[in-house]
Amino acid sequence: MSIEVQSVNKSFGAFKALDDITLKFPDGELVALLGPSGCGKTTLLRVIAGLEYADSGRIVLDGIDATDKDVRQRRVGFVFQHYALFRHLTVFENIAFGLRVRPRRERPSESEIKAKVTRLLDLVQLGWVANRFPSQLSGGQRQRIALARALAVEPRVLLLDEPFGALDAKVRKELRRWLRTLHDELHISSIFVTHDQEEALEVADRIVLINKGHVEQVGSPSDIYQRPASAFAFGFIGAVNEFRGKVESGYVRVGDEKLRIDGDHFKDGQDVIAFSRPQDTEIVSHDRSEDGISARVNRILGNGAVARVELVANGDARKGQKEFFEVEIPGSELQTLGLSTGQRVKIKGRKLSVFLNQSGSQAS
Ligand code: ATP
Repeated sequence: MSIEVQSVNKSFGAFKALDDITLKFPDGELVALLGPSGCGKTTLLRVIAGLEYADSGRIVLDGIDATDKDVRQRRVGFVFQHYALFRHLTVFENIAFGLRVRPRRERPSESEIKAKVTRLLDLVQLGWVANRFPSQLSGGQRQRIALARALAVEPRVLLLDEPFGALDAKVRKELRRWLRTLHDELHISSIFVTHDQEEALEVADRIVLINKGHVEQVGSPSDIYQRPASAFAFGFIGAVNEFRGKVESGYVRVGDEKLRIDGDHFKDGQDVIAFSRPQDTEIVSHDRSEDGISARVNRILGNGAVARVELVANGDARKGQKEFFEVEIPGSELQTLGLSTGQRVKIKGRKLSVFLNQSGSQAS
């Protein structure tokens, strides 16, 4: 089912939680709503579900205006971070619940319910726990049952709010792969909320990046990672080195030092933030050129094919600049450079992306 969010606004008192959000979710995609805590992800999901109403704007499902329809009419399945399965019901009965509470005319027969629950248990690969109670399951198993329960009523869209947020890192990783596989089998339009960029990059077909109630960027995981559209997007997605300063004749001046930037997109004196990914940052051990920021090697991690070098800047007076930097280099280069902890070096961006500091929207 396609989902359209048209100019949606939502405030809680004087606080604007959603600021003129317009989005289109194509049919059958697995979409991640990604952003920092408090940015409005859950509120947007609840407005799409019909659990919360927008102050203005429309929700259109499959081309039909659903703005005034409730959750049941929208036929939405919901999985929460802490999905309270009924403690006194078995796993089987938890999944069957949504079918049993249907009005008599729409209620499936006992044999139909049994067949359907069995199918769903197979789908989430948990047929063997059918007669257990929720307290006898692990956290990951409970979330898979919660998903089976949401799917039992054949929702047109599946909405998941941090579904794996309460689980430990290993189970979380397993379950997100499993969710991806399940989605590929079912092709049901799904939207999941996460603040974990790795989870969004790994699982989603498309990412909607949200910041302070507005949409910052929409794109495939590789678009978002490789072509961040704003300073916020660059800083939020993936490891990054950040240099803040003023433009000065083709350089960014950072404290007493300078970094060369490409192109002539910026005027002298403009406040900018330059970013480079660890793999696009270079360490030079002997360099007399003006280009580069002085730093000291703090730690060297991994001696295999790729080494990660953590550096700390020596110029403390640089206001607003991150102190630590991270550089990824091939193990062979580490040998050639002969780096050791405490050594003074310079770092440069092999590929720097520069954004205006105030607006955070212009890239070079
Ligand atoms: P998190 O990842 O921490 O769950 P989120 O991006 O899902 O964050 P929301 O839950 O959508 O954020 O909340 C967005 C903002 O709206 C927050 O600042 C929150 O405090 C506020 N908010 C949400 N619900 C209410 C409410 N019922 N009353 C008042 N403020 C609310």
